[in-house]
Amino acid sequence: MGKYEDLEKEYDRCREELRITQLRLELLLDNIPGGVMIYEADTGKLDYLSEGCLRIFHCTEEQFREHFYNSFNLFVMREDRAIVREQIKNQSEFFDTVEITYRVRGLLDDIIWIYHKSRKFASNDGRMLYFVVLSDVTNEKLVQAQLQKNTEQLYMESERYRLIEEATDNISYDYDVDLDILESSELDDEGNRFIIRNFLGGDYLRKHLHPEDYAVTVDKFKSALNDPAKGSAEYRLINSKDDGSEYEWFRLSYASFADKIGHVFRVVGSAKDVSEEKAERDELRAKVDIDAMTGLLNKNAMQHAIENYLQKSRISDCHAVMMIDTDHFKTVNDTFGHEYGDNVIKMTATSIREVFRESDFVGRMGGDEFMVFMKHTTPRITELRAKQLNDAIRRTFTKDGISVSISCSIGISYFARDGEDYTELFRHADEALYKVKESGRDGYRVYREDD
Ligand code: GH3
Ligand code: MG
Repeated sequence: MGKYEDLEKEYDRCREELRITQLRLELLLDNIPGGVMIYEADTGKLDYLSEGCLRIFHCTEEQFREHFYNSFNLFVMREDRAIVREQIKNQSEFFDTVEITYRVRGLLDDIIWIYHKSRKFASNDGRMLYFVVLSDVTNEKLVQAQLQKNTEQLYMESERYRLIEEATDNISYDYDVDLDILESSELDDEGNRFIIRNFLGGDYLRKHLHPEDYAVTVDKFKSALNDPAKGSAEYRLINSKDDGSEYEWFRLSYASFADKIGHVFRVVGSAKDVSEEKAERDELRAKVDIDAMTGLLNKNAMQHAIENYLQKSRISDCHAVMMIDTDHFKTVNDTFGHEYGDNVIKMTATSIREVFRESDFVGRMGGDEFMVFMKHTTPRITELRAKQLNDAIRRTFTKDGISVSISCSIGISYFARDGEDYTELFRHADEALYKVKESGRDGYRVYREDD
């Protein structure tokens, strides 16, 4: 066998091997998820496109080349071109491979996210080419974007929550039921979150809660550990940060959470210092209950106080209701003016208050009319007081040589003889008062059924 024949055989073998290699490569390229693209480094001109590339864009090779002007540079969506160019340049300086993600506007004007991994190499004819493996990562991007959005949302929510908390002076709590640890958003002197270990098991609550609020508050909290529950509680607490012995009012709102088998494992909540709010509320309540001019109870408060008291009374108890109306009061107004009249009402109120015990209820029912509720009295004492009152109110006012005299008429009814409830006692005392007015004023009268 000659040398030439050997060479020819070797040549054929090489060609066959090359063909097989090429086939194998083609098969490989067609079957990888994604596609392969080769383009000229200098001009961006597209050289080779694999089937996979065309599959991403659902088009033929001609359509692909036409749509992207046969250019890698124009393949990248306009908005991303500058950054892609920059990234390829930077990465090429330090690495053999370039990895980037960018958007491509597809043939249907849809946006496709492409993950791009490329390597530069020199071809036989001396051109510098980029060998690129592309894959469509649009779905991953969408999921990622959603995830990012959720994370941002979560951050925003917690930030908003924090802001609200700050704005409302709320302290938030997180209680781990199994570990018996309560963590609060309050910061200690070193700026750490305030943590109470052995929250229920230890003596923290007994030491810090007001003794009167201890049982109710702890019971309430513990009941939220049996089943998931929402609730609120108001209690007085010694502020642990101060050395303090002063209690402050707090309002706690809580919600407890159970796992799948119903075991409550966590309680979250917020607490607010409501001391000021409480004081304002008390003040407001006092204002609502009190007659502004005289400082006596007003009509509503009187009714409340009496109804409350009667509820706790036994039928054998003796209490008296007195209705008192100033006589000829209009004349005071008409003669000396309304303001003068006001002062007379105030003086009358003071006089009435002075006649009775501190514990009796004294109220102004409106205008020149008053009511007294005498607790645990006797007819003898009641009538004595009525007499004293008539004497105390009977007065003459003189101004600029003009005199006006006032006095008062009093009607009396007894619990439980003349009535067992407020309305009945009120009505009967008022009827007795009317009788006094009828028979010349300045006196008292006890209600009688046969009147
Ligand atoms: P009587 O002897 O029958 O009780 O007659 P009176 O003049 O006292 O009149 P009456 O009790 O029927 O009415 C009370 C009057 O008191 C009516 C009103 O002009 C006056 N008055 C009511 N409220 C006020 C007040 O707040 N200030 C003043 N100055 N006068 C009031
Ligand atoms: Mg009157």
